[in-house]
Amino acid sequence: MFELSETHELLRKTCRDFATNKLKPIAAQLDREHRYPAEQVKALGELGLMGVFVPDADGGAGLDVLSYAIAMEEISRGCASCGVIMSVNNSLFCDPIQKFGSADLKKRFLGPYASGQKLGCFALSEPGNGSDAAAAKTTATQTSNGYALNGTKAWITNGYEANAAIVFATTDASAGHKGISAFAVPMPTPGLSLGKKEEKLGIRASSTCNLIFEDCHIPRENLLGEEGQGFKIAMSTLDGGRIGIAGQALGIAQAAFEEAIAYSKERQAFGKPIAKLQAIQNKLADMAVKIESARLLTWKAAWLKDQHVKFTKEAAMAKLAASETATFVAHQAMQIFGGNGYVTEFPVERHYRDARITEIYEGTSEIQRLVIAAHV
Ligand SMILES: Cc1cc2nc3c(=O)[nH]c(=O)nc-3n(C[C@H](O)[C@H](O)[C@H](O)COP(=O)(O)OP(=O)(O)OC[C@H]3O[C@@H](n4cnc5c(N)ncnc54)[C@H](O)[C@@H]3O)c2cc1C
Repeated sequence: MFELSETHELLRKTCRDFATNKLKPIAAQLDREHRYPAEQVKALGELGLMGVFVPDADGGAGLDVLSYAIAMEEISRGCASCGVIMSVNNSLFCDPIQKFGSADLKKRFLGPYASGQKLGCFALSEPGNGSDAAAAKTTATQTSNGYALNGTKAWITNGYEANAAIVFATTDASAGHKGISAFAVPMPTPGLSLGKKEEKLGIRASSTCNLIFEDCHIPRENLLGEEGQGFKIAMSTLDGGRIGIAGQALGIAQAAFEEAIAYSKERQAFGKPIAKLQAIQNKLADMAVKIESARLLTWKAAWLKDQHVKFTKEAAMAKLAASETATFVAHQAMQIFGGNGYVTEFPVERHYRDARITEIYEGTSEIQRLVIAAHV
């Protein structure tokens, strides 16, 4: 696969134009004001980007996962916060509902979310555990007609705006990770409160907060899959999510790269544009190679998911390569900008801040290396 199809190219152009005209001009302001981009997210929904690979019969755009990876890169190139909002709704909310939800759950929790009218979030991490997801302490105790959830979920992206969450909780503490179950939880709902909005280094236009459950009653029909399937659902969901985050990281890297090229052609030092200096050219070459390598890994992982074959290793490779590329490229871009790279008048410092999270969420770089090593 060395060339995108016409459909993929068209989607890429549509997303790129939207990002250039509607996201890039406002991204700095959204970041500065820590403001949720409601209008922009609505537009993403109208473009079919909130449920890219959800079948159209279920309210999505009915495209493939490769389309999703392409769209994630292009949207994140304009605004990395919009990228993560979109990725959580697509890969961490709609995907598991589509794969594991009953017809009733799909009716209630898929169509409006895939079309962008409503927004989903995914609640796996807790204050005491992130990488070690099986150590989760939140419990779901059986009641006469459902479950009572108790515990705290941490770092939940879209937590402030979401209309529903997929929540992981232990139904059988004696069974270890096989005792974890997944639930579709409407928001707001009695017994669920939100913690304070986290003050973050980057992706500041996306909200992140704790979800606190105190005897929060969930009807039995909201169990996703079967009791005890939650850990499996979480891991398979994150495999797909990593393709989305790889796309986000690529978008941040590409944005920083384009800024660096333009600046190096303008900025003069010692009587010529700095682009004429070999030290700067070497940086640009290294940036280009890393971006292209990570993009090919990302597209391959997406293509494998589209073939319905195992893609765990490739998704981890894509996420690792793309996130480390984003931090590398943003770092080099700041260096090329010199002092101007360090101030908020120029976008490079935001790309530098936004890049960093891609090495942490949906599995840290250390965890990706563990996953890859287990497969080789
Ligand atoms: C902005 C933001 C948004 C987020 N959004 C969500 C969300 O929507 N939903 C959600 O559920 N979670 C979310 N998270 C949580 C995120 O997925 C976790 O922060 C991440 O998985 C790491 O977990 P931790 O923070 O508990 O770090 P820890 O697991 O405590 O790890 C600390 C350090 O130890 C390393 N480490 C841990 N275990 C190993 C190991 N076995 N081998 C080698 N090194 C190891 C880690 O790599 C890391 O460097 C978000 C986090 C942030 C910051």
